Amino acid sequence: MAAKLSTSTIGFPRIGDQRQLKFAMESFFKGDSSEAELLAVAHKVQSDAWALQKAAGIALIGLDGTLYDQVLDTVTWLGAIPPRFKGLSGLQRYYAMARGGTALDMSKFFDTNYHYLVPELGPDVLGPATADAAAANGAGGGAVLQPDFSGPLDKLARGQAVVGREHAVPILIGPITFVALSRGCELPLGEAVSRLLPTYCALLQQLAAAGAPEVQLHEPVLATSAGAGMRAECEAAYGRLAQAAGSMPLHLVTYYDDLGAAYPWAVQLPVAAVSLDFLGPPGAAVPSQTLALLKQHGFPADKRLGAGVVDGRSVWKDDGTALAMLRELLGSGAVSADRLVVTSSAPLQHLPYDLGLELEAPKTPEAEPHLPPALAARLGFAKQKVEEIVAVAGLAASSGAAADDDGGRGQQLLLRQRERAEDHRAGLNIAEELFSRPQPYDVRRGQQLQLHPFPTTTIGSFPQTAEVRRLRQQLKSGRLSQAEYEGLIAGHIAHAVGVQEALGIDVLVHGEAERTDMVEYFGMQLGGMLFTRAGWVQSYGSRCVRPPLVVDDISYRGPMTCWEYKVASAYTRKPVKGMLTGPVTILNWSFPRKDISRAAQAMQLALALRQEVAALEAAGCSIIQVDDPALREGLPLKRERWASYLGWAVDAFRLCTGVAAAGTQVVTHLCYSDFDDILPAIDRMDADVLTIENSRSDNAMMAALAAAGYGRDIGPGVYDVHSPVVPSVEFIKSRIRSFVDSGILSGRYDRIWVNPDCGLKTRGWPETIAALRNMVEAAAQARAEL
Ligand code: GLN
Ligand code: ZN
Repeated sequence: MAAKLSTSTIGFPRIGDQRQLKFAMESFFKGDSSEAELLAVAHKVQSDAWALQKAAGIALIGLDGTLYDQVLDTVTWLGAIPPRFKGLSGLQRYYAMARGGTALDMSKFFDTNYHYLVPELGPDVLGPATADAAAANGAGGGAVLQPDFSGPLDKLARGQAVVGREHAVPILIGPITFVALSRGCELPLGEAVSRLLPTYCALLQQLAAAGAPEVQLHEPVLATSAGAGMRAECEAAYGRLAQAAGSMPLHLVTYYDDLGAAYPWAVQLPVAAVSLDFLGPPGAAVPSQTLALLKQHGFPADKRLGAGVVDGRSVWKDDGTALAMLRELLGSGAVSADRLVVTSSAPLQHLPYDLGLELEAPKTPEAEPHLPPALAARLGFAKQKVEEIVAVAGLAASSGAAADDDGGRGQQLLLRQRERAEDHRAGLNIAEELFSRPQPYDVRRGQQLQLHPFPTTTIGSFPQTAEVRRLRQQLKSGRLSQAEYEGLIAGHIAHAVGVQEALGIDVLVHGEAERTDMVEYFGMQLGGMLFTRAGWVQSYGSRCVRPPLVVDDISYRGPMTCWEYKVASAYTRKPVKGMLTGPVTILNWSFPRKDISRAAQAMQLALALRQEVAALEAAGCSIIQVDDPALREGLPLKRERWASYLGWAVDAFRLCTGVAAAGTQVVTHLCYSDFDDILPAIDRMDADVLTIENSRSDNAMMAALAAAGYGRDIGPGVYDVHSPVVPSVEFIKSRIRSFVDSGILSGRYDRIWVNPDCGLKTRGWPETIAALRNMVEAAAQARAEL
């Protein structure tokens, strides 16, 4: 009988079981607590997380933990500090880079909903480009870094004190991924990386001297399409890193998908261990190919394999797949048991902390209802996943490599996962005609609302004031009855409508005062979705979200937005937009089921939302906006999988909106401005009006749309909603003129809408009113000047 397999972790929730770090950060930001107080909480949160993993029996514990973001931590220890922060130091500088007016940009981390801070690696940080290769390969070749290793060294020392020297493993973002995530770098990837390498090497030496049993280098970029083309850069960099590490093993950690074409060379990089993602994103149409790659190409006999078989991105307990995968792997002979380390498919940071917290009795009257026990038995959050890693490692070894004592159940599960394929149409039997509007745009547009050139509107939300938020809390805690609450919300709707009327906006919105969040508001009213009480996940820095869980077939339980539509339209003769969140966004911001594909779940959501579109129409609404800002974020890491994803994602949008009569105008809003690579998909959404973020992008998207011959109404944002600055009439007018100059819609100016970049919920009323007044005035002047 083989010994128990070894185990490792590659990341864990960093915010604390009770979100202690969030509250400590916020109190520090407000000036209510000291640096020492913040650090005390942060260190306790980290120690608790590491101790939990040690207690569960993990052998090699990845020392996760951050005061804001792991990419920002990397910027800090490398000293890759943009010049504008150079007057600052310590935590003051760290948080200046994280937040406030001059902070680094934020961006989504691969295909997750976590936001990282984007490193800036311009010439002022990495040094100028140089033809002199020797200089670049020398001691940091021109890079202006101010390294500071105290963060990672201190963390290692604390980790060693908690879990013991042989268990405490530092985690670093690898140099290839770090550069790939950055902006402003004018150097080729290999040269940029080589300028950082001396600093990486120096840190590795210090970690080795401090007694680290290995160091994890996280390189998720290798799982993207671009990763396959980074062979030369990886070989050069890892050669140098391995040399610097000396006898200390390096552990290359990859995740979020399989390595694809990079597999054959990536596993040969000069490291002692490689961790691979055996599962890929939950519910993906194409499951991870890691097992197949291992069988096809084998695995170097001198390396340890970190088998990411416990699903680190799913809230569902392992159903036997993990064990089946390990047995298949051991049976294939690709790797021997003594070289196998069980881990999670991805860092556990994307999961809530502990399912146990959910099962505790509610402490406050606001708490939502308990989890049904039968459902709880099928779920597992981060703590449970750690326990699963240890349990699976024990089981895989105990019954040996050959025997399959579960009656083939594991094999069946594996097979089912592989066959899950694209069942979104076949499985649901949805008639083809439901995916299309009754008429093509050219025919139906004439039956829709006709307005003057440059019609004005907004994207949906108006300021979510403290007063509005208080109403919801009062409803939850019972201090307001449902009727009282609705009366007060109606007052806010009336106010928003009154403001828009007074400003002279053409198409009005009700203002979304009743919504906490564009997904939660719908999820709470649909059947099949569950909201947790304590299932917090870090979104960025101190911000946490509680993504809902899809736990059953989605069902429509009745109108969700008709009341607010009717209230708003009772106060005005002008058209009011119905306001829905699209199926792909609801799904991408939730934890999906694992037993059916994400595509199938998107279709279920689409069918439910389709009934809401019909209900709004029946209530008299003739302009319906369906926001799908997450459509782009859901793109798979590998380009060859885009077509499949976009296939079902756009189908879901079409299924949701296809029910609208020809005379109903379907609007969509996509919260980003870089979709030139998915233009055909945007076109296939067949929305009558496309509103996009545009004010900060220099009309790049307009040019791309014009070049592609995009022919439907478009609403390019004319001002940035992220800043309280009030745009001038002149500024907005120049934006409108630039749309005219872009040549898009060749003179059909009544089809060029004038609206802000996005919703206004984070703004205050005074600046909102001032900005919209200027927007309406600018549209009027532009119209007069035609
Ligand atoms: N209708 C939403 C709002 O205005 C859209 C938000 C979004 O795209 N993220 O708030
Ligand atoms: Zn938006």
